[in-house]
Amino acid sequence: MKVRGVLLVLSGPSGAGKGTICQALLKSRPDMCYSVSATTRQPRAGEKDGVNYFFISKDRFEEMIQNDELLEYASVYGNYYGTPRQYVEEKLSQGCDVVLEIDPQGAMQIKKKFPEGVFVFVVPPSPEELSDRIHKRGTDSQEVIDKRLSAAAAELACASKYDYLVVNDQVDVATAKVSAIITAEKNRVARNCDLIDKVCQSFLLAQKEEQHG
Ligand code: 5GP
Repeated sequence: MKVRGVLLVLSGPSGAGKGTICQALLKSRPDMCYSVSATTRQPRAGEKDGVNYFFISKDRFEEMIQNDELLEYASVYGNYYGTPRQYVEEKLSQGCDVVLEIDPQGAMQIKKKFPEGVFVFVVPPSPEELSDRIHKRGTDSQEVIDKRLSAAAAELACASKYDYLVVNDQVDVATAKVSAIITAEKNRVARNCDLIDKVCQSFLLAQKEEQHG
């Protein structure tokens, strides 16, 4: 039987750099899969349907909720965002690690359903840096930027509900930290019970064979 993959949940305020860390992580860990979320927000310049998000209507989103097609969902900055269920469940059972880049409301829903998930909160090195990054991104209106900045403090207060905190000062260092967390989690005894059983059985078998000459 395949060992189930690790479900990694990355959250943090807008501008913390979760997206950049995710991309770097996917490059450095080829077995890792990214769960593309569904959203009712409009695509930003350069964003592609099915790659960054599944950009869908509010009606379709509500239909997905009704049909239990989402593992979690939340309203964030005035739009719906949610994680399609099937992809995540399939990949985990195939033994692939899956990363969700979602907000704290969604993360807490996942924690109830997947207590064995790994919850990482990414923070920027300072509030000034956060503001600077959101402005430099140049993809959002001032109104959206203001909404995101004022939500940041409330989001930061959720950090204590996560397993790990990673300060994203330098993307490569922060990515290496998240990658190390995944590696450590994959080696947890609790995730490898079948392997332990197998090793014990072959050890006992070898002992028996030795006793019987
Ligand atoms: P953005 O509009 O900047 O792409 O994302 C806004 C916020 O929504 C971010 O905090 C992002 O992590 C969160 N988000 C993206 N996808 C999902 C999702 O599937 N579920 C939830 N709950 N939040 C999401």
